[in-house]
Amino acid sequence: MAGEPQSDCLFCKIVSGAIPATVVRETETTVAFRDINPQAPTHVLVIPKVHYPDGASLAVAEPGIAADVLREAGQIAADEKIEEYGYRIVFNTGAGAGQTVFHAHAHVLGGRGLQWPPG
Ligand code: 5GP
Ligand code: ZN
Repeated sequence: MAGEPQSDCLFCKIVSGAIPATVVRETETTVAFRDINPQAPTHVLVIPKVHYPDGASLAVAEPGIAADVLREAGQIAADEKIEEYGYRIVFNTGAGAGQTVFHAHAHVLGGRGLQWPPG
C-alpha cells in the first residue's frame, strides 16, 4: 500500500530504529538526523515516516506531511543558527540529479557559503 514501510529501504529502517542515526528532531510524522557524509557544517536530512520515493510524490499523496517536512527543515535551520546567513533545502529527485536513497528526504545544508547554481 502507498506509504507503507519498504523492507529494502534504508530510511524506513532508520524510521523503525533498525539502523541507528543521530536524530536531531522527531515529530509524529517526520524524523530528522545528521547525514552520515556531511557536505556542509550543518547537513541534516528530514524524512517523512511514510515511504514515498521522492518529495514531489510525497506532496501529491500526503500534502500535509510534505508541509511538515518543510516546516521541520526551517526549524532545524533555526536550531542550528544557520537561518540568518542563509541555508539551502534540497530534494534531489532522480538518479541523474544525485538521488541515491529513494525515500523522500530534504537535505538542510548550511554553515558555509553555498554556490549558485549548484553543481
Ligand atoms: P540523496 O543522494 O539520495 O539525495 O541523499 C541521500 C543521503 O543519505 C546522502 O547524503 C548520504 O550521505 C546519506 N546517507 C546514506 N546512508 C546513510 C546512513 O546510513 N545514515 C545517514 N545518517 N545518512 C546516510
Ligand atoms: Zn522508505
